[in-house]
Order: sequence, then C-alpha cells, then structure tokens
Amino acid sequence: MMDRQTSPENKSEDKSENNEKIISDTKECPYCAETIKVKAKICRFCNRVLAPDISSQKEQEETKLKLIATMEREVGQIANV
Ligand SMILES: [Zn+2]
Repeated sequence: MMDRQTSPENKSEDKSENNEKIISDTKECPYCAETIKVKAKICRFCNRVLAPDISSQKEQEETKLKLIATMEREVGQIANV
C-alpha cells in the first residue's frame, strides 16, 4: 500500500487514462462552458437544465441510413457490372 502511494509514475499514468475516458464521456456546458457528462440533464456547475440531444441523435441515425442506402446502391452497381 505504501509503495503504491509513493510512486508518482503510476499516478500520472492513471490520470492520463482517466482523462481520455472523461473526454469521450463528457461535453461542454453551453451555459458555463464547464465539462459535464454527456448524459447530464442538469449542469452540476450552473444548475441549468440542458436540452436533451435528441436532434443530434436523429441526425446520426439519418446519416447512418443514408450511408446504408449509398452502400446498397454501390453494391447494386458492382453487381450490374
Ligand atoms: Zn453549466
């Protein structure tokens, strides 16, 4: 236990790993620009209610569908050739 606490190298490594995880799981609050979780509905820094990200989710699904459509078209073209 003592060895772990006195080793600074391990600590810094853990920190960088955590940072990467936090970046992928967080976003910036549009009101106070603090880093908050993507799933957060209320900013814990300014207590403002955040609008749910439904529109972007819809967009993502639409782009996915478009991608599938273009892929199917390409596959059809290849089959025709
Ligand atoms: Zn905020």
